Amino acid sequence: MTQTEDTIVALATPSGAGAIGVIRLSGPEAITIANSVFKGKDLTKQATHTLHYGSIIDGDVILDEVVVSLFVGPKSYTRENVVEISCHGSNFIIESIIKLLIKRGARAAKAGEFTLRAFLNGQLDLSQAEAVADLIASNSKASQQIALQQLRGGFSNQLAQLREQLVQFASLIELELDFAEEDVEFANRDQLKQLIYTINKIISDLIQSFELGNAIKNGVNTVIAGRPNAGKSTLLNALLNEERAIVSHIAGTTRDTIEEVLNINGINFRLIDTAGIREATDTIEQIGVQRTMEKISQSALLIYVFDAAEISIDELNNDLERLRKPGVEMLVVANKADLLNDEQLLSLPHTDRAIVISAKEKQQIDELKNKIYNAAIKEQLTGHETLVTNIRHLEALQKTQESLTRVLNGMENVTSDFLSMDIKQALHYLGEITGAVTTDDLLENIFSKFCIGK
Ligand code: GDP
Repeated sequence: MTQTEDTIVALATPSGAGAIGVIRLSGPEAITIANSVFKGKDLTKQATHTLHYGSIIDGDVILDEVVVSLFVGPKSYTRENVVEISCHGSNFIIESIIKLLIKRGARAAKAGEFTLRAFLNGQLDLSQAEAVADLIASNSKASQQIALQQLRGGFSNQLAQLREQLVQFASLIELELDFAEEDVEFANRDQLKQLIYTINKIISDLIQSFELGNAIKNGVNTVIAGRPNAGKSTLLNALLNEERAIVSHIAGTTRDTIEEVLNINGINFRLIDTAGIREATDTIEQIGVQRTMEKISQSALLIYVFDAAEISIDELNNDLERLRKPGVEMLVVANKADLLNDEQLLSLPHTDRAIVISAKEKQQIDELKNKIYNAAIKEQLTGHETLVTNIRHLEALQKTQESLTRVLNGMENVTSDFLSMDIKQALHYLGEITGAVTTDDLLENIFSKFCIGK
């Protein structure tokens, strides 16, 4: 089962003082090396999945009292022998124990090497290994769930099935090459075309899901824009429920963009409070205006705030027209409802994408949060069963699609050998996602991004 010969060691918990630190060993000698520094039971004679209390000793010196967990391969994360030593979380103790283990024959693990071994030994496929990295880095419920789904193999299963169907066609076309003299077609071109359409449709959906997947994983870029004094800073504070941005009475004082993170239903919205959108004469404001427009283009969601007591319909329509950008969802927020009478309130729009609030009096703030979530996430989620969140997968999917398009275009007029080449290329890129196809560079690139000890 084990493909690697040496035994690696690293701290598996974050470095720095903590209640406990967990040192992990993996490899053929993990148990014997641990046993050579352990005073307690003979670890080489214990069953897998057992815990043992004892001391770590360097000759006569006791370094720490520890609990050792044993995982006898292949029943372990890496499928090798794994020992986890839980010691007291002092840097000095941890370093001394790791040094001692290295003296006894272990080697310091490289970044991601434990997970690399799990992959090499067939415990995980590549996208699952990446999901481990995502899971460790996940900072919201939603991103954790995407990573978990990927870890369970949902994403790669779907792709593996597609790849299987393509492999069948590739082999039929390969067969045609063997009978080139006889000009036969084993691979039914119409069926192949149909299959490619089907695959391309699924791949397109996966590619499209990236934008949303990425938003869920890394946060939704959200811009709050509006004229000076509309109440943008007040709204930002109300949303964050804290006095973060500096609110002022002088028009145009929020000169620098301020970025804050608002969590709604587990999604991080990166809120960028901007300078006013009014075409101002002084240069600092002008920079602000330009920056607002740039920020809007880079965002997924625009929250446009206006002072319902002040703005005219023409000004409002003018702003909306100028700010609307394809691909950027927009919410229209009428602020300062507390200053309006009932008649004025009724004349304002109340739709899925428009809401009347009072930022100062904190009225309708929860409803606004719902609308923010619905516009950026809920409405976008329909139709996506699987979300692609990894840029490497996105690139491989795009390349798969390019090769498949070449197969389609060439179907009528290129010979079987070219068709076969393009299909093989598509198979290659699909395989790169699940790890059916790997190169050393690719592995190095993926696993070097892990932290040491993972
Ligand atoms: P910004 O320039 O768009 O960031 O606007 P501010 O948040 O600085 O608000 C401008 C002024 O409007 C401040 O005096 C706020 O207290 C006031 N303001 C903001 N929201 C409301 C509101 O809902 N009702 C009332 N009455 N005043 C508000």
